[in-house]
Amino acid sequence: MKRFIMLISFLAHLFHGKAQRTDYSKYPVYKGNDLGLTYTPKWSLFKIWAPTATTAEIINYSDGTGGKEINRAQMKKEENGAWSVLAKTDMKGTFYTFRVNINGKWLEEVPDPYAKATGVNGKRAAVVDLKETNPLGWEKDTSPGFSNKTDAIIYELHVRDASISATSGIKHKGKFLGLTETGTKNPAGLATGLDHLKELGITHVHLLPVYDYNSVDETQPDTKYNWGYDPLNYNVPEGSYSTNPYDGLTRIKEFKQLVKTFHENGLRVVMDVVYNHTALTATSNFNQLVLGYYYRQTKDGKFSDATACGNETASERPMFRKFMLESMKYWVEEYHIDGFRVDLMGVHDIETMNLVSKELHKIKPDILIYGEGWTAGASPLPDSMRALKANAHKLDRIAVFSDDIRDGIKGSVFEHEDKGFASGKPTMEETIKFGIVASCKHPQVDYSKVNYSKAAYAKVPSQTVSYAECHDNHVLWDKLAISAKEATEAERIEMHKLALSIVLTSQGISFLHAGTEFLRSKKGVENSYESPDSINAIDWGLKSGNKEVFEFIKALIKLRKDHPAFRMMEADKIKKFISFDNEMPAGIISYSINGLANKDKWKTIRVIFNGTGKVQKLSTSGTWNYAIRNNKFSADENEYSVPVLELAPYSCTVLYQR
Ligand code: CA
Repeated sequence: MKRFIMLISFLAHLFHGKAQRTDYSKYPVYKGNDLGLTYTPKWSLFKIWAPTATTAEIINYSDGTGGKEINRAQMKKEENGAWSVLAKTDMKGTFYTFRVNINGKWLEEVPDPYAKATGVNGKRAAVVDLKETNPLGWEKDTSPGFSNKTDAIIYELHVRDASISATSGIKHKGKFLGLTETGTKNPAGLATGLDHLKELGITHVHLLPVYDYNSVDETQPDTKYNWGYDPLNYNVPEGSYSTNPYDGLTRIKEFKQLVKTFHENGLRVVMDVVYNHTALTATSNFNQLVLGYYYRQTKDGKFSDATACGNETASERPMFRKFMLESMKYWVEEYHIDGFRVDLMGVHDIETMNLVSKELHKIKPDILIYGEGWTAGASPLPDSMRALKANAHKLDRIAVFSDDIRDGIKGSVFEHEDKGFASGKPTMEETIKFGIVASCKHPQVDYSKVNYSKAAYAKVPSQTVSYAECHDNHVLWDKLAISAKEATEAERIEMHKLALSIVLTSQGISFLHAGTEFLRSKKGVENSYESPDSINAIDWGLKSGNKEVFEFIKALIKLRKDHPAFRMMEADKIKKFISFDNEMPAGIISYSINGLANKDKWKTIRVIFNGTGKVQKLSTSGTWNYAIRNNKFSADENEYSVPVLELAPYSCTVLYQR
């Protein structure tokens, strides 16, 4: 019966659906790796993929905008939908666009989707000799050493936010170069920018979008702010972060300078990539060369929108899969990028993500790939095929953000008044425990009581990114101000410290949002993607004002780096070495990492969180050293026999035995 109904529906689809839906699987697939521009001083080869075009042309210009047209040439049709044109002269310094004619209709003139350089605002691709973009010593640039993925402590930073405030003491404000400056200080003389990142001790700097995005006018970059989740040219750095957005070379050179400087200072660089949608939809360069192909459609043939940004790309179609793969490989090979944070990764199909991971690991075995295992809307691609959090176990060496621990710590990002474990909400213990074991299987976690996931989704702890906040939604300090407004500021500082203690002692990969180490505020603005600098800029004065918090977070990072027990690489080890203490009072979590876990120098580590607003007493036995006593690091090397631990409100205590 069921089969019969399916047959009927299939026939109905054939007769009624066919006229309006295009079968993109019939499109030829171009296998070459020379799409875009191949430049030599003697000739330039330009190539696009446009299988439905009847004619195609290239238009060369003297400038990135305006200026004069210097040449217009018909392109030659090649195999598998490709079109090419060979210019037998040195084209360096010129700009170009393409346009195609489909069945007698010219589509819009657009820049090369494979462009590696553009003029101002990304309107035209630029012909550059990439050899001229390398900063001095680039050929010797290597990434700092890094072995296990769980060693990563990621710091999420927006290029402009880092330096734009007067308190940064940085000269190149809002620019890539601003992050290459050393010796910069805030008004009280404390390190800012790059020196601060080194001082803090993080391992990876994750930059919010630095590819060319659409929303900021590069001719007047100080008139508008944006996070940059609106991609224009995927393989080109953003012009507003360069000192000269008109020249195709400068932004490339300056971004490479940033990567090189970070590497020299022991920091790895992660790019935030947004292949799930394009800023423009019908008029995007992809769509004006091949109508519809690069995007998923709804049943009625319209652009589907799992990203809530107007479209969603179709990674499962071979030529977009190829584009994503080649684009990420290009950033790793040309710019020496060390990792990717994949925006709305749940939009992409698992097969593409695993292919990307496999190929990138071949180039850089210690590359870090992690993403948002969700979407912002419904997608026509079935859930089982998409790189969703629940499918993490099907992903190969790819991590997902744990919104479970994020909201378990501080409360739901969608309900502003909601609290979490660190701000005194009861019943969050199992969610925090789920986070402590990095979403792996552990016999002492009751998954039925976890806020979101009702099962372990990570195969290994390196598949979980633990965090309390990111650029989206309220920053932690603002969230605490809104949800725990009855608490005093002093109490909220303890909550903040407890929250980050949970992040930095949990298994998995640690992730911090820039400025959280000194209580950064965005003045209550929830999604500051286009808010002015007055909201987004990092106020480096806070580092002096909240120096004690900064020193605490810095010491937490050091604790994590000094102790492999917090960074186990196998789920089995977590199961074996971590044991939770049963029958704790409500709002208390206590666990031990036993037996020189993961070759730690400490025999036993006991971590205790008091998420309540009251002093709690806990009986204990044996003699212990204090690493952290009630949110304060202890330099005391003595062992104590403490029959009753007094846990301060909203506090973390870490004990150990040698
Ligand atoms: Ca731009």
